[in-house]
Amino acid sequence: MTKKKTKRTICLGIESTAHTFGIGIVDEQGKILANVKDMYSSEKGGLIPVELAKHHARVCNDILANSIKEAGIEMKNIDLIAYSYSPGLAPSLKEGTIFAKALAKELKVPLVPVNHCIAHLEIGKLVTNAKDPVYLFCSGANTQIIGYASGKYRVFGETLDVGVGNFIDNFARHAGIGFPGGPKIEELAKKGKNFIELPYSVKGMDVSFSGLLTNLKQKYDLGKYKIENLAYSLQETSFSMLAEVSERAMAHLNKKELVLIGGVGANKRFCEMLEIMCRERGAKFYSVPLSLAGDQGAMIAWTGIVMQNLGKKDHKISIKNIKSADFDTTERVDDVDIDWVEEK
Ligand code: ATP
Repeated sequence: MTKKKTKRTICLGIESTAHTFGIGIVDEQGKILANVKDMYSSEKGGLIPVELAKHHARVCNDILANSIKEAGIEMKNIDLIAYSYSPGLAPSLKEGTIFAKALAKELKVPLVPVNHCIAHLEIGKLVTNAKDPVYLFCSGANTQIIGYASGKYRVFGETLDVGVGNFIDNFARHAGIGFPGGPKIEELAKKGKNFIELPYSVKGMDVSFSGLLTNLKQKYDLGKYKIENLAYSLQETSFSMLAEVSERAMAHLNKKELVLIGGVGANKRFCEMLEIMCRERGAKFYSVPLSLAGDQGAMIAWTGIVMQNLGKKDHKISIKNIKSADFDTTERVDDVDIDWVEEK
């Protein structure tokens, strides 16, 4: 990245939008000095928002101490604190915001509010070195095809119902395979030999998984299809849908790179399909290492640095205004004006 400043900037980023409380420490060159996190889990499954907040309050001080230790720095070396501002669950976001404000006050450093989804994109760009990619964001709840155009990260396509990860988990739970379903479905799919025709639902650049899910559940309940073949067909069908809409977005935007982010990116067959699609159109495919693909603080810290060092406006909340720092549960990726990416 082009640097405006010569002094080494160290940013501490706090992630707290949902189940994960994480702190990452990153410098202005994109060197990740620390990335420590703890994810809430429960015996019964499901996320109870107020329990998430209690979890975050319980672990935050240990995570801070461990991240400082891992980075090999002292608290006084931190120049900037970035925190996940939106979107997410109110109790989790509130806990993170309170923690960020208290820490900023104690260290007398400014705060940068960061959109969590944009942070996934920015860390993806950092670690892959992609210049101007289309992003395919496939996590539990999110499925979006995003590209930068005219001052915004714009959503060119998305799921019309559930995210692809939640779709896979839901079918896996129905089939008694357990949670999270993705890795187990991937293993079963490797043993699948026969492709079973399933509903293929692409509408323009959007996708829909609910019909596919219902159909898969019905087929499973009939008892006449092998789970290996259902898992194989689930992957081939849903990943083809996502490859198709990604390709359409790349063609429409004339972009030559595709970056896959989110936990579903761990799936090797998914990566292989996207790799083939990109190769056939002379484009490059990148996936993000798992440690940086899910929710963590390094992506928040890095985005804070990028916004602060490359943004045209001042994105920080100064020490004297720290009280005004807030959170928002609903800000979409395309609500944010992007002034730190150069127009191509
Ligand atoms: P969100 O941030 O959207 O609320 P999340 O934080 O739970 O969701 P991630 O951690 O990015 O999302 O991804 C989790 C999802 O990835 C789960 O649905 C899981 O089943 C899926 N997943 C993990 N490994 C694989 C795999 N090998 N194949 C397919 N899906 C996978």
